[in-house]
Amino acid sequence: VVSASGVRMSYGDVQVLNGVDFTVASGEVSCVIGPSGSGKSTFLRCINGLEPVLGGSLRVLGEEVGHALRDGKYHPWTPKEFAAFRRNIGMVFQRFNLFAHQSAAENVACGPVHVLGTPADRARTVAMEHLDRVGLADHAHKRPHQLSGGQQQRVAIARALAMNPALMLFDEPTSALDPELVDEVLEVMKALAADGMTMVVVTHEIGFAREVGDRLTFFSDGVVVEQGRPRELLAAPRHERTKAFLSSVA
Ligand code: ATP
Ligand code: MG
Repeated sequence: VVSASGVRMSYGDVQVLNGVDFTVASGEVSCVIGPSGSGKSTFLRCINGLEPVLGGSLRVLGEEVGHALRDGKYHPWTPKEFAAFRRNIGMVFQRFNLFAHQSAAENVACGPVHVLGTPADRARTVAMEHLDRVGLADHAHKRPHQLSGGQQQRVAIARALAMNPALMLFDEPTSALDPELVDEVLEVMKALAADGMTMVVVTHEIGFAREVGDRLTFFSDGVVVEQGRPRELLAAPRHERTKAFLSSVA
C-alpha cells in the first residue's frame, strides 16, 4: 500500500527527510515513533501528497505520489488526479479540525456530500453508521464544543472513515488529549485495526504500538533508524538513538 525508497524532502535549505525507506502492506498497522522534529509529520504529509517528494520514490495505493505516467513519461498530477488520490486516504491530526458550527453528523456527512456527491439523506445515514462505529450515535446532534476532546477526536475519525479510505494516517491522534480521554480514542483505533484497515500511526503511545502495531518504525533526523516487530524492537532496540529515545519516553 505504501512503498517509500530513499524519500527526500526539504523546507528550503533544511533537509527534513534524508532518504526514508518504509513499506506498509495491506491490512497492516504500522506505528511510527521518534523525537520531535525528526520528520514524522512531514513524511505523513508526503504519503498523502501534501508535500512534494524531492528525491527517491514514493508509491502509495499503486501510484507514484504526485506523478502520473502519460505517453511513457511522468507528468505532475492535475488537480483532479490529486483530488482523486487524496479521496482514498483518511487523515487524523492531533487537533481535530472539526467544523465548529456543524453537528457531529454534519461534520461526518460533509465529505461524502461535497466530495463524493452522495445525496444528503444517504450521507446522513452513512454518517450515523460511522458515528455508531466510534460509539457516538447518541451524540450525533451535538456541536464540537458540546463534546469532550476524546469524543471530538472520535468524530474526526468517523469523518475520515465516511470517505471509505483505503489507507488511514494518524498523526499523534491522542497527544492533545487529557490522559483520561486517550484510551477511548485508542480503543476506536484498535477496533479499526481489527477490521483490517491499513493504518500508519505516528504516536507516543508505546503500549498501543506494542499491542496493536504489526510494525514499529523509529525515525530520527529524517531517516528510519530501525524497524521491526514492536515487541522485539521495544524489548531489544539495536541502535543507540532508539535506546536513548525509548528510555526518554518510558
Ligand atoms: P513532532 O514530534 O514535534 O511532531 P515531527 O517528527 O513530526 O515532530 P516534522 O513536523 O515533520 O517533525 O518536522 C521536521 C522538521 O521540519 C523540523 O525541523 C521542523 O522544524 C521542520 N518543519 C516542519 N514544517 C515546516 C514548514 N512548514 N516550514 C519549514 N520547516 C518546517
Ligand atoms: Mg509531528
